[in-house]
Amino acid sequence: MVLRKILMVMVAVLLANNAAAAARALIPDALIDGVGEQLQTGLAVIVDGEYIVGVVPVADLPADVERLRLPGLTLMPGLINGHEHPLIYSDDYQNAHLAASSAYKALLGLAALQRMLEHGWTTVRVMGDADVLFANQDIARAVAEGVHTAPRITGAGHYLSITGGGGDINYLSPEQAIAADGYIVDGPMEVRRAVRREIKYGSDWIKILVTGAFHSVGDDPKNVAFSPDELAEAVAEANRHSVPVAAHAHANAGINQAVTAGVRSIEHGTYLDDRSIALMVEHGTFYVPTIYVGDYYAGTDKLLAQEKNDDIYLNYRDEWLARIGEAHRAGVKIVAGSDLGGYHIDPRAYAREIAVLTEAGLSPMDAIKAATAVAAEMLQWQDRVGTVQSGRWADLIAVPGNPLQDLSRLEDPSFVMKGGAIIRWDGQQADPR
Ligand SMILES: [Zn+2]
Repeated sequence: MVLRKILMVMVAVLLANNAAAAARALIPDALIDGVGEQLQTGLAVIVDGEYIVGVVPVADLPADVERLRLPGLTLMPGLINGHEHPLIYSDDYQNAHLAASSAYKALLGLAALQRMLEHGWTTVRVMGDADVLFANQDIARAVAEGVHTAPRITGAGHYLSITGGGGDINYLSPEQAIAADGYIVDGPMEVRRAVRREIKYGSDWIKILVTGAFHSVGDDPKNVAFSPDELAEAVAEANRHSVPVAAHAHANAGINQAVTAGVRSIEHGTYLDDRSIALMVEHGTFYVPTIYVGDYYAGTDKLLAQEKNDDIYLNYRDEWLARIGEAHRAGVKIVAGSDLGGYHIDPRAYAREIAVLTEAGLSPMDAIKAATAVAAEMLQWQDRVGTVQSGRWADLIAVPGNPLQDLSRLEDPSFVMKGGAIIRWDGQQADPR
């Protein structure tokens, strides 16, 4: 009886606290809402609990609403990183994979994700990771349970690779029995089992390495790895579970086969041509080029597979950018993905992908949408994130001045909010609640 009374008092206190947490209005100098083409002024964004509940002229704000002014700042949707590997914690990632347990990777990956959040990335799509278990899904669970704060996490536990493919570790002798960084599958039945296991343990995307990779040793990005029946099985099994497939593909034949098979996104898509562009338009396939990672590693000796990276950087980068521009103008939906990895990366570097997209011919506003509204559409989360509209989660950032004139402003926002909670607010007092 006493216990019941205590519980009732606790419930009453909780309800009172909820009622006290009134809506508040964020009042920036300017707003990019992710929908329109222009910077807007004179608007306030009303946040109630986890959600945006209104975007109204400042003059129309109710008198009793709490006002949180963001002078000198442009408010915009939280950034969505369409391609990341939070558990990769070293440039030499395949050796690092062999040296670290899944638990260690989870600890470093959580720290990396928290840095991403502090730098404006409120949602991250994990494109498979160098891990044996499911550390990203464990992090997502701990975040959902309120134990830790991190970006919203979606994506795949692993990248599915053939034996000898980009997810295998190809520089060791055949005597070495190792656990590859990817998930090795050969033949449709192994693909089917792998897809089922991925989904069972929390992957909401399936990631497949359709061709060789640039940043791994001993495989060729210009070759197609998966056979047509393996590719078809991956898409058919994933789609049976309403899970989309993301296809890493450099070689043109690999891109075109993957698009035709029905993947939702093409990752890298380096050697796309007119036919690839036409197919992507026809199938509504999203395109995540991940250009900046090549610049990041250009001319260094950080990677074991550096020769392949230098080749694309020195000989092909301009043509690739031109192709991405053609794809954009033809109507292919371009999404920003950094592909840099986690703990070893300066968190300001992730946003450089957005600026590089303008080198391909996207306008600054389209480049921002590639990391907000269009990325949300790829995730099928457009009713939750990616725009500043009533009903969306209050995932918001603010940067000094006008980011359309200088996209580097996005590298280090002054204000970050996730689900209505202030994560960062430089130069101001902490959240008064
Ligand atoms: Zn990647």
